[in-house]
Amino acid sequence: MTRLLLIGPPGAGKGTQAERLSEAFAVPAVSTGDIFRYNVKNDTELGLQVKAFMDAGAYVPDSLTNAIVSDRLQQEDAVDGFLLDGYPRTQDQVHELDRLLEADNGALDAVVLIVADTEEVVARLLKRAAEQGRADDTADVIRHRLAVYEEQTAPLIDIYSSRGLVVTVDGLGAVDEVTGRILDALAERGLSVPVASGDAASAS
Ligand code: ADP
Repeated sequence: MTRLLLIGPPGAGKGTQAERLSEAFAVPAVSTGDIFRYNVKNDTELGLQVKAFMDAGAYVPDSLTNAIVSDRLQQEDAVDGFLLDGYPRTQDQVHELDRLLEADNGALDAVVLIVADTEEVVARLLKRAAEQGRADDTADVIRHRLAVYEEQTAPLIDIYSSRGLVVTVDGLGAVDEVTGRILDALAERGLSVPVASGDAASAS
């Protein structure tokens, strides 16, 4: 039963690391950004509601975001643990997550903070823009997303630090290196990757 959060500025590499950590800990990675993008792409009701916010690099309203996460965490595969990528991002979302976990008698194991300096993340996002053409990866929107992160999400680090949950990892360097750093930092807190999962996978 592992419950992790990933926090970090846009472009810090949360999504990439989330995939790897979810595999390592055998828990689902839940990315609000991915859920929203999927809905926009498929023209769903939710997609229509969130598209303008996302394109502008603004946060989707808490009421909508909280409802999506509440729903997702009640699905079968998330009952035994999860890795949340990109949620919570506001104080209101922190309170909602607290409420959800309390109802479930659960607590978070750790909050992984991936740090990367602004120049580096802007360069990465512009590169991704060229490769993938994400609508919110233009220079202006990137700047706005970083400002919103600083204003709304960076303060959450203090909240989780005061609970003794934050593990800070340098997001600079090769993807494998960063994954290694995160796994080491979590192991130091007593959160080791389940050994049996690798064995089971190779046995089957
Ligand atoms: P990044 O971390 O690079 O901004 P994400 O995929 O995590 O990328 O998020 C993309 C966009 O999705 C955000 O700019 C925002 O519009 C929306 N979004 C994702 N997660 C949240 C959240 N927890 N609260 C509000 N909006 C969110």
